[in-house]
Amino acid sequence: MYDYLIIGAGLFGSVFAYEATKRGKSCLVIDKRDHIGGNVYTEKIEDIHVHKYGAHIFHTNDKATWDYINQFAEFNRYTNSPIANYKGELYNLPFNMNTFNKLWGVTTPAEAKQKIKEQREAAKITDPSNLEEQAISLVGTDIYKKLIKGYTEKQWGRAATELPAFIIKRLPVRFTYDNNYFNDRFQGIPIGGYTSIIEKMLEGIDVKLNIDFFQNRNELEPLAHKVVFTGMIDQYYDYQYGVLDYRSLHFETKVLKDIENYQGNAVINYTDRETSYTRIIEHKHFEFGTQNTTVITEEYPKEWEPGDTPYYPINDAHNNEIYRKYKALADKETNVIFGGRLATYKYYDMHQVIAAALTTVQKEFITY
Ligand code: FAD
Ligand code: UDP
Repeated sequence: MYDYLIIGAGLFGSVFAYEATKRGKSCLVIDKRDHIGGNVYTEKIEDIHVHKYGAHIFHTNDKATWDYINQFAEFNRYTNSPIANYKGELYNLPFNMNTFNKLWGVTTPAEAKQKIKEQREAAKITDPSNLEEQAISLVGTDIYKKLIKGYTEKQWGRAATELPAFIIKRLPVRFTYDNNYFNDRFQGIPIGGYTSIIEKMLEGIDVKLNIDFFQNRNELEPLAHKVVFTGMIDQYYDYQYGVLDYRSLHFETKVLKDIENYQGNAVINYTDRETSYTRIIEHKHFEFGTQNTTVITEEYPKEWEPGDTPYYPINDAHNNEIYRKYKALADKETNVIFGGRLATYKYYDMHQVIAAALTTVQKEFITY
């Protein structure tokens, strides 16, 4: 009998397993995939750490979270500065003075602000209520049309007017010449890849891969006193309040044997509607690689269907209402803990998952 059966060897499950084990508890971690790490999984190809589930850049403003992850890896000095390619025109991201200068020829922050103000006023937006209105109100209609609308609508498979405003607020808007995608104090890529972090967290813990909880529920549940569940909460409750929508992805990874440097940057976003992928990742640039070959991944968004991996929750009003009902059920459980991106239906980044897992640990192991 284990103290905890942990469903999902992603970041949430692994942090929980590590902390519980540190406190003398026994854990069994299972995952339906054939590897640990969930979506942060990296695999070495041509001596390059390939981010198998899309670009993962660690960033946080919280010193405690930064110190926590640094127990498991040393981080390099990588700073995320994606480039947007709109039909062959290149722009710096996030939206900053370099972007405004390229687009409008403006050179001062005052000129850029004036341009945005004029476009916001012309669009008559006072109280933004969806992603489109929020974007126009932050950066004006020109940037919205070239760098946001096409990318957003293919990424989410929905009109930008039907998407929540918070999604676009993830991106900084700056009136300085600073191409850093994040505002956070701490940022980098773990030297040695993310998988090695998860390996360290799970060292000495029983892990079983290629096991789907729902196909083995009757045998698995009796194995532990408590369950930590990091899969889809709607599936856990047998979809009784309806199916939650997710956005899925499809990745095409290519080894380019004779190319040393394919695109000159780790991340290039294709912001037009017609190009079917949203971005191309060139993995070696995350770690300043000097190999003679390179590995790239094209990222194609798609609607989630049963059997697909659910990557992004769709936090619109309809889905949030369904989630609220599942959460009410989850809150009543005494022996099941729900955590991570899928079980709490939240658009969490890695640092938020770690913080949430540590909060869960604190609650679970509170000593009076
Ligand atoms: P997951 O990693 O999804 O782990 C859940 C695990 O549970 C999975 O391994 C799954 O196989 C397993 N599981 C589910 N159901 C079952 C079941 N029934 N039985 C057995 N196992 C099951 N964050 C950042 O901070 N920076 C970034 O740059 C960044 N980029 C991203 C890019 C992409 C394309 C995506 C999709 C996410 C990105 N993230 C990024 C977010 C990051 O991936 C997540 O915050 C983090 O991986 C979530 O961890 P988790 O443990 O909650 O979930
Ligand atoms: N976005 C955009 N154009 C870009 C990059 C991002 O319109 O070039 C929008 C898009 O709606 C996206 C959101 O900003 O879903 C958040 O971007 P982020 O890079 O944080 O997305 P993630 O890496 O989580 O997929």
